[in-house]
Amino acid sequence: RNMKVHNFNAGPSVLPNEVLYKASKALIDFEGTGMSILEIGHRTEHFTAVMEEARSLVRSLMQLEDDFEVLFLHGGASTQFMQVPMNLLESGETASYVDTGVWSNKGIKEAKLFGYVDVSGSSKDNNYNFIPKQFTVPPQARYLHITTNNTIYGTQWSSIPETEVPLVADMSSDILSRQMDFNKFSLIYAGVQKNMGAAGATMVAVRKSILGKVTRKIPTILDYRLHIENGSMLNTPPVFSVYISMLTLRWLRDQGGVAAIEKINNKKAALLYDEIDHNPLFRANVPNKEDRSKMNVTFTIDKAELEEEFLKFCKKEDIVGIKGHRLAGGYRASLYNALPLESVEVMVEAMKYFSLKKA
Ligand code: PMP
Repeated sequence: RNMKVHNFNAGPSVLPNEVLYKASKALIDFEGTGMSILEIGHRTEHFTAVMEEARSLVRSLMQLEDDFEVLFLHGGASTQFMQVPMNLLESGETASYVDTGVWSNKGIKEAKLFGYVDVSGSSKDNNYNFIPKQFTVPPQARYLHITTNNTIYGTQWSSIPETEVPLVADMSSDILSRQMDFNKFSLIYAGVQKNMGAAGATMVAVRKSILGKVTRKIPTILDYRLHIENGSMLNTPPVFSVYISMLTLRWLRDQGGVAAIEKINNKKAALLYDEIDHNPLFRANVPNKEDRSKMNVTFTIDKAELEEEFLKFCKKEDIVGIKGHRLAGGYRASLYNALPLESVEVMVEAMKYFSLKKA
């Protein structure tokens, strides 16, 4: 039996082996200090170097303009659902949100605590199986918020919407998986536990020029400006999580960066969707190919009585993590950056074999 399985988990999820080996060593002795990474102060030169490298790797991998600052914060992407409007949305004013599922809705709910929300587009009526294309953003909106990849339903924005207002995005489940003009955004956030590390930190890339424009008093720990002033060290950061992110970002750089990983991600997604589309037993949840997520592939089996059996069959083949989210049903295979192409090949073989056996 292989030590490692084919890990299609939606997040936390697969990490590069190389990262795990390095981290396991640092857990005992961090760079010859005679101390674990968990035993050193966050303000030591050892850890500040880790934080600075992580921040600068994000900046270079995303090719961010100088106006951007990169932060590693606590509280998950869920904290950003409220921290974004608290810092950007003046009370009595409006923010525009596109509702593409559960995660967008959580953002909408929090934004309403601070101002008005205009839900400018929604795919709710079709159980979120497409990305809205025709929508109008109120010109007075303080920002437009989108969720670039919808982890549960398996949809993804294939292009960035054109808008006159500052663009804010939750990129938790597709950050650094594909090339994009990140400079079209004013604020990008992502929990790091899918494509860029282990749970515990949230990456926020924000343009300094959009901050300081609301009149409300912002609690210290929630004020982006204070995090920036303090080099993302306003308080004790989630050190181990930041360290794993730094290693994962180095790994990505060494793979050739976002352009190189995108090629592999495209190959993985094409291989799996192609099998789903051609195998008579399976069906993709998202009909419009342009809206299909390359990170979370959602699909169902045509014979309901075989649903459990296929999961068991996969488990025997060392394929794990493909049970769909309860709201979407069926299956979900997550193909994050660190998932090797080989795992998708094994999955496709399993689908072919299972289908022939059941024909
Ligand atoms: N946004 C998206 C798109 C997500 O997939 C998730 C988590 N699955 C979240 C936000 C919430 O992230 P966290 O658990 O880090 O708060």
